[in-house]
Amino acid sequence: MALYKENYSKIITQGELLEIQTVLQEIQHEISPLFGQGKVADYIPALASANPQDFAMSVTCNDGTCHSIGVHTQKFSIQSISKVYGYTLALKHYKSALYKRVGREPSGDPFNSLVQLEYEAGIPRNPFINAGAIVVADSLVSHYKAKALSHILSFIQESADNDNIFVDRTVADSEMEHRFRNMALASLMKSFDNLDNDVTEVLETYFSQCSVTMSTDELSRSMLYLANNGTDPITKKTFITPAQAKRINALMLTCGHYDASGDFAFRVGLPGKSGVGGGIVAVVPGKMSIAVYSPALNEQGNSLLGTKALELFTTKTGLSIF
Ligand code: GLU
Repeated sequence: MALYKENYSKIITQGELLEIQTVLQEIQHEISPLFGQGKVADYIPALASANPQDFAMSVTCNDGTCHSIGVHTQKFSIQSISKVYGYTLALKHYKSALYKRVGREPSGDPFNSLVQLEYEAGIPRNPFINAGAIVVADSLVSHYKAKALSHILSFIQESADNDNIFVDRTVADSEMEHRFRNMALASLMKSFDNLDNDVTEVLETYFSQCSVTMSTDELSRSMLYLANNGTDPITKKTFITPAQAKRINALMLTCGHYDASGDFAFRVGLPGKSGVGGGIVAVVPGKMSIAVYSPALNEQGNSLLGTKALELFTTKTGLSIF
């Protein structure tokens, strides 16, 4: 398999020349019988109103070429996908010191589980479960003080090369109103001395970053730095080192889908991160980034059609890392 060099619209796989746009059309057609399966997140009203029939998929290649299908300009709540941006910023500032506060092992537990955190003395397994992302948010509050959220948002805008990306305050307020489990996680970590700032301030930062809205076009564009060793291949801005990009991709592969991370790696074979808003991003190192959106979720809280669409993409194109 290789990307056809003169034109990033084409892939050569098993001697066959495939157009990415045609592949996306086939995928949209093949997943259509699955509409109606899965369940839209309903723990807050702002997410429950998403249309389960919506589907979008965008592929942005490292040369900036973008191929999309479905409602690819429609913004939705990125939720846990934001954990990738938060971790990138924290890793940039704290480097390996961050590993003392948050680990790098799959949890095998649901995203908001309290049990493991108790018997592992308040050190979350990885930055992509809620407890881990809350510690990361705490580290950013320590570093940026009251400006933490604006720095996270600026980083997202910079990585997407797009200033038109914002926090949906209705979603953020609703998350705060239904904060109790995340507050329990944060409080438990505070009791173990793994949270330096005020619980409410940290949660506000965490919920606000989760409430950023983006389209699949914007998401796939913003993840190119992870497909290019930490440097945006278009703007040439370096966000993190190649070694840090490698680590984030490794964590996305092993921990990006909560207790379904192994299954996602097995089916799709790419680093990826999902959010309960129905989005998933995936990275093909050296080549492209892919984003999908479909709000109906499987039992582990990952987009059901989105996972299937990515599985079909890597099967058809051979563009997995294995
Ligand atoms: N804001 C959500 C929560 O903390 C994020 C969940 C997710 O996308 O996994 O519960």
